[in-house]
Amino acid sequence: MKIFGSSGVRGVANEELTPAFVGRVAMAAGSVYAADADSRPRVALGRRERFAQSVGCDVDRIGVVPTPALQAYAEREGIPGLIITASHNPPEYNGVKLVGSDGVELARDALERVEDRLLADRFTFADWETTGESHRIDTVQEEYVTELLNRVHRGDIEAADVRIALDPGHGAGSLTSPGFFRELGCDVVTVNAQPDGRFPGRDPEPVEENLADLRRLVRTADADLGVAHDGDADRAIFVDETGAHVEGDAALAALAAAELEAGDTTVSAVNVSQRLVDVVDEAGATLELTSIGSTNIITRIQRLRREGATVPVAGEGNGGVLFPNYRLARDGAYTAARFIELLAATKRTASEIAADHGGYHNIRRNVGYSDDDERERLLAAAEEAARGSDADLTTIDGYRLDYGDGWVLVRPSGTEPVVRLYAEARDRDRAEKLADAMETDLREV
Ligand code: MG
Repeated sequence: MKIFGSSGVRGVANEELTPAFVGRVAMAAGSVYAADADSRPRVALGRRERFAQSVGCDVDRIGVVPTPALQAYAEREGIPGLIITASHNPPEYNGVKLVGSDGVELARDALERVEDRLLADRFTFADWETTGESHRIDTVQEEYVTELLNRVHRGDIEAADVRIALDPGHGAGSLTSPGFFRELGCDVVTVNAQPDGRFPGRDPEPVEENLADLRRLVRTADADLGVAHDGDADRAIFVDETGAHVEGDAALAALAAAELEAGDTTVSAVNVSQRLVDVVDEAGATLELTSIGSTNIITRIQRLRREGATVPVAGEGNGGVLFPNYRLARDGAYTAARFIELLAATKRTASEIAADHGGYHNIRRNVGYSDDDERERLLAAAEEAARGSDADLTTIDGYRLDYGDGWVLVRPSGTEPVVRLYAEARDRDRAEKLADAMETDLREV
């Protein structure tokens, strides 16, 4: 696919993502939604604009909400949706994500239909009489929180008397997560909890280097757990009670360990940590790997379920975890609630739970490029390095080299003009060496 990357369409606002372009995406999606509808289609929109009306859709304007809240609304109302968000990308970015009437991100084949219309400028305009109507819906945040509360074990959490330090990173989770955790019976303190599209407090990506405020807050407020979201709050990353960062891979492994039983299947991406592999082996479950990005993982889960597999948990080490029995969608608030349940049920601390899945060192670096030629040269260099090594090679997405005591992966980002480099090993020096060697090969280009 040319336009839809691993998580919808993304680009720098007013350069690639101009209002006119977003309008064309909305018209292409609306045309496909309308073609699939039995009666006049209704669409949920996570930001106000009028293009979907022009192709004959009625529009429910649900305002600023987390992506999972729009997904919950789409499923409840049985209508497809669009959300205007660049998720974790830097402030200058914007994006569009498309959701089906089951509340699940559109699968690749459906996205291809939208993309075909977009590239061909083939929009099905309504005449003046059938132009859609627009309604403002103000209850979506509240209904989403109510649904979340109904889906977790409130009693256990209330009894555990947990104090949460929360950093929604000025994203849409600022509007829903503080109230949700309070209603769950947690004591909640917050930082960066005013929605602000300029993200003044921190970059919207919840990675360790952006979460110093949260680690400080955990220590000063003596919290049991720190929770950080990305810009659209479909991810959750944790800080333990000592103020130390919990690797997303360790949190995913802990959540998976609590969930997986023998015979189950779980799905992760090609940058999967050995931590999850160990949990899967221990449980007697099966692990399937896809290209990086939630769309790929969701598409694979749908296929596995059609084939009769049980997939109770899936996701990536970036805080994007799926509990398909809840919804086939990532949800940062739900993921955090499941982690709090783990604390409450085991009466263990976050650092103890994370330590069960410690002992690995992970490295992630970016090598930027300025045009397609440079990108191709970087990938060619990675391929040459891969062919010349004696490691096991996986080419699901980029080049992953497994050396037995560690691995390194090189792949182009689906959302930014960078080639990403990942490495993992039990030994920190080994991980650094694997990353250095590959980075040297790339930088020589
Ligand atoms: Mg996101």
